Amino acid sequence: MYDTLRTSYTFACPLHGEAHVRLSRFLSLEELPGPHHPTVYRVEFSCGCGGEHPGLVSHDELDWAPLGLQEGTTFLNLMTSRREPLGDELGDLAAMHIKAGEWPWSFFCWPEERPRPVFPSSFRLLAPAADGERVGLLVRCPVCGKVSVNLVSRAHVDVPFVNDREVGVVGHYFEDDAAAVIDEFRAELSSSSFDARRLGL
Ligand SMILES: [Zn+2]
Ligand SMILES: [Zn+2]
Repeated sequence: MYDTLRTSYTFACPLHGEAHVRLSRFLSLEELPGPHHPTVYRVEFSCGCGGEHPGLVSHDELDWAPLGLQEGTTFLNLMTSRREPLGDELGDLAAMHIKAGEWPWSFFCWPEERPRPVFPSSFRLLAPAADGERVGLLVRCPVCGKVSVNLVSRAHVDVPFVNDREVGVVGHYFEDDAAAVIDEFRAELSSSSFDARRLGL
């Protein structure tokens, strides 16, 4: 389902049968309720056919497949202080980065006023920014649980360990209400009230 060579996920497209979709083409991610092992996320994505479709992606595919990591060996996850699975091949490279203190994804938590490491499963909403090059990214902070909106490059989202040195941050407190957040997210993206913040973790 995740194609490491294309750095894209494979979903069904009603028009083309199959769509290869990079993470930055996702529009929303939502954890499915119920006892799924592993957790399953329902996503909406912007398809190459011009449409928007739903898809399902497991937690493993979302967070670990882009790193080439699978079941097997473990390492100490600095974010959760728990042992997490670690694979081979590409996984070795990912492990080297992580041991060197680099994290595959990061964002700037506005309520905490600091950068934080993150996984794609903490992303909630994405949308192309007005400049057509960057994407607006709404993240629920895995540490404080609050929501922040960052303006980042597509590579920052799509390519693990590629982190923008500086990201745009909306100085706005988002209420923890799913429906309201979507409206606020769109409103903030179309305004240009982004402040630059450095992302060095
Ligand atoms: Zn399509
Ligand atoms: Zn936070």
